Amino acid sequence: ILSVSHLTKKFGHLTAVNDLSFTIEKGNVYGILGPNGSGKSTTLGIVLNVVNKTSGTFDWFNGSVSTHEALKKVGAIIERPNFYPYMTAVQNLKLVCKIKNVSTDKIEEKLDMVGLLDRKNSKFQTYSLGMKQRLAIASALLNDPEILILDEPTNGLDPQGIHQIRQIIKEIASQGTTILLASHLLDEVEKVCSHVVILRKGEKLYSGPVDGMLGSHGFFELKTSDLKAL
Ligand code: ATP
Ligand code: MG
Repeated sequence: ILSVSHLTKKFGHLTAVNDLSFTIEKGNVYGILGPNGSGKSTTLGIVLNVVNKTSGTFDWFNGSVSTHEALKKVGAIIERPNFYPYMTAVQNLKLVCKIKNVSTDKIEEKLDMVGLLDRKNSKFQTYSLGMKQRLAIASALLNDPEILILDEPTNGLDPQGIHQIRQIIKEIASQGTTILLASHLLDEVEKVCSHVVILRKGEKLYSGPVDGMLGSHGFFELKTSDLKAL
């Protein structure tokens, strides 16, 4: 689905992403794991065309379509959920459909998927943070994306909210949608992801199956200080 090759991003003298290469194959759940400032959000921003790369390449769908066209088949949440506070969930999603130019037919199905169908007529401002995040997921699914990209989807949530979001991600993945999520929590990646790209200071430490990172050629070869940083 996505191939990233020798990607580098510099902000002035700071190298946020350094010579990063990885591929995303259909049907898997990928984590980008790394501590604060390791380049996770920058990487997602680049492939979503909201951050300009310094060098390297990335190709969506084998380069068969332009990035602009490819991104129509991508769902992404890279910011805190932002909807109109005085409008209901359904009204907000109708607006999203209009903006994205997709049918409103699937609004209820997506709200059901994130467990918000019974609160569909509640105003956004009455939602908890977890519900807001789940509404954002429903919103990102309206165009039936081939891949869903999430930047720290459980940040700031209580344990129950975290559990709900993780369950929803697993459910979406089980229906065949590829997932790419950024997280600074090893625990989250172990629970949710099948594959992982581990970053530290913009550099790749490991990429491959989550199981493999515990093997002799992966995780344990990292320095203890690297492990602590995760
Ligand atoms: P976090 O876990 O805190 O979200 P992250 O892994 O997502 O971190 P990035 O946000 O990608 O990390 O940041 C990588 C590095 O690039 C950091 O040192 C950050 O300060 C820097 N950086 C990010 N965006 C900018 C920007 N617009 N201008 C300057 N520096 C930036
Ligand atoms: Mg980030």
